[in-house]
Amino acid sequence: MHNLLILGGTTEATAFANAAAEAGIAGTVSFAGRVERPKRQPLPQRIGGFGGVQGLVNYLVAHQITHVIDATHPFASQMSGNAVVACAQAGVPLVALTRAAWVAQPEDRWAAVPDISGAVAALEQPARRVMLAVGRMHLAEFAPNPQHFYLLRLVDAPKDPPPLPNHHVLVSRGPFTAEDDGALMQAHDIDLVVSKNAGGTGAYAKIVAARALGLPVLMIDRPAIAARTEVTTVAEVMAWLGHAGADRGV
Ligand code: NAP
Repeated sequence: MHNLLILGGTTEATAFANAAAEAGIAGTVSFAGRVERPKRQPLPQRIGGFGGVQGLVNYLVAHQITHVIDATHPFASQMSGNAVVACAQAGVPLVALTRAAWVAQPEDRWAAVPDISGAVAALEQPARRVMLAVGRMHLAEFAPNPQHFYLLRLVDAPKDPPPLPNHHVLVSRGPFTAEDDGALMQAHDIDLVVSKNAGGTGAYAKIVAARALGLPVLMIDRPAIAARTEVTTVAEVMAWLGHAGADRGV
């Protein structure tokens, strides 16, 4: 009898939760609590941090979790690292449902930076009109470069104004289309896009739009995460769980 803990906050986590619910597999979807209205899940959900590795170990034991599915965002490295250590300590099998990183196409004009600090350093240049697609949590780190106009697309309206004197906030959860993102970039006269290399389809529209418009992209590489079992499809997670629905492609 399964009792899954699904570490969520992504489209992939919701897709897997749907498949698990359809297959009658029990589990809980966990959110950090970063967004005001997390997407409704077909399984019970919990919200908030566990309290580090020890808190997660305690949770796994107290709730008799049989398997952990880490379907967090590729940049949620703290949570993913904690899951590796806590699952090893608690003896609970762990699989990560990940997505391949985006790879530059011949027409792409990407400059890779290793992390957010690298992106901030690369923006030490005369004023540009930047679409800054790094999420709400990292905006303050860009304060050392106040010379730029920043177009910020966020899931929730910020509670405090971002510390960037020249910005425009757009509240939208997506999914987005390349056509709409291209029109948005043109409407704001964007000449540089800053993006995490999230992988997957949900956030790719802006990359396609930048390509079509010939715009440069400052692409932030993914953080390293400890070795773990990784798969890229819902069906592979089902197979890993030993569930019969796997061969039907659920
Ligand atoms: P993070 O830096 O790796 O995590 C920081 C702390 O937040 C973790 O140590 C954990 O607290 C808590 N946490 C993170 N994800 C959690 C989850 N699914 N359930 C319960 N607690 C969680 O994470 P992050 O980058 O801030 O991302 C937070 C959430 O937003 C994740 O669910 C992620 O999938 C989603 N998300 C992130 C991004 C991104 O660009 N980073 C983009 C889209 C969605 P404790 O140590 O107290 O357990």
